[in-house]
Amino acid sequence: MKIAPIDPDKASDINWDFIMIGAGMGGSSIGHALSSAGKKILFCDSGFINRNEETLSGKYSEEFFSSKSKINKRNVLKKSGRYFNYIVDKTSSASSFVPFIGSGGGGSSALFGMAMERFFPQDFDSWPVSYEEMVPYYEKVEAQFRGKGEKDPFLPVYSLLPGPQLSPPNKEIFEFLKNQGFRPYHLPMACEYVRNCSECSGYICPLDKNCKNDAFKIYLSPAIENFGASYLQSCTVLELMTENDLVTSANCVVDGKSFYLKASNWIIAAGALETPKLLLKSKSKHFLNGLANSSQLVGTNLMRHLVDLYTLKTKAEIKKSYLVKQIAISDLIFKGNKQLGILQSFGKAVAPESVLEEILSPCPFFIRKLLSVFDLIILNIIKYFVTGQRNFGFT
Ligand SMILES: Cc1cc2nc3c(=O)[nH]c(=O)nc-3n(C[C@H](O)[C@H](O)[C@H](O)COP(=O)(O)OP(=O)(O)OC[C@H]3O[C@@H](n4cnc5c(N)ncnc54)[C@H](O)[C@@H]3O)c2cc1C
Repeated sequence: MKIAPIDPDKASDINWDFIMIGAGMGGSSIGHALSSAGKKILFCDSGFINRNEETLSGKYSEEFFSSKSKINKRNVLKKSGRYFNYIVDKTSSASSFVPFIGSGGGGSSALFGMAMERFFPQDFDSWPVSYEEMVPYYEKVEAQFRGKGEKDPFLPVYSLLPGPQLSPPNKEIFEFLKNQGFRPYHLPMACEYVRNCSECSGYICPLDKNCKNDAFKIYLSPAIENFGASYLQSCTVLELMTENDLVTSANCVVDGKSFYLKASNWIIAAGALETPKLLLKSKSKHFLNGLANSSQLVGTNLMRHLVDLYTLKTKAEIKKSYLVKQIAISDLIFKGNKQLGILQSFGKAVAPESVLEEILSPCPFFIRKLLSVFDLIILNIIKYFVTGQRNFGFT
């Protein structure tokens, strides 16, 4: 994408029809729809919205770290589309950590594993909309993201583009699961499977392959290139300012410089972690508990996505070129009274460096310091467990 970002001074002179705070899946999809309907749109995001030769892609950020300094890690995370601020979970004894979510053009979808699943009709039981009402939207998004694979056998009938053939180790696992009485299916994926596709998950797909159908590719780039939307990158919205009961402006910062943006309408799509934070910080005479918080529930009940990872050994030889992320089973999701999770191929092995970061980051400082002496030994142990195996996540 060659179009340049707008200058903060210029952006603050314009009264925008809509400002999208966050250019992830939520902000990009709404911004795409609004800009294609002729609205004057500004996307602003704390990360880099555009992708260029500086973008770090094709492997986990942790594999690009060149030192243990926080500055180096922060720069690398930002250039690879990852959230780059340390946060403290005050509900546990954990020390500060950087959540594994996205930041920048495409948001978390830039890192996403491309699985394109639908919710089950039962999931909508206590929602104000039903599965049937959602079907046209599912169909639209599946067509836009070119989802490929098979539908879950427990869902009502719908069709997708065919997925690529199962690789020999996956065929073996598929047959094994069937013989155990499960109903495995070909996991639907928003992937183009170009030559040598490595099913990038956890990081941005290399620009020369560009085969991950994420929000950057499907919504954000077309909104900017085809429909004239503008973007402001490295721009963090600190607080929304209100007059009476309307949001009129936003206090923002780019490279340490503070300024205000104005718009008639605001879409706050900063993700599940940052959206409530922004609402809570935006207090005024009319909104003593923060914006949209008359229930006082904003910022509570935030859950971390639980993933239980299993590695499997197959009789079939595992070749580097084989596709990995191809199978799912949901037989266990509604098991009697218990609601368990979905088993889904996780994709290529997680980089040992990422596993080490995950293990170390919640540890108190002195334990981290102590364990860092044994970094290489621990890395080799992790490598032994994750290299050359099939990975299944239980999510
Ligand atoms: C590693 C990974 C794998 C995943 N795999 C899958 C999958 O296979 N299938 C699936 O369906 N889902 C998957 N998900 C989940 C999915 O990607 C997310 O649910 C979805 O992208 C969330 O979209 P969002 O717009 O709500 O937030 P995000 O995409 O997180 O976007 C929020 C954006 O807001 C910006 N922002 C935050 N605060 C501010 C601020 N104050 N000012 C300005 N900008 C701000 C952030 O920088 C970010 O770019 C995965 C997620 C991750 C992290």
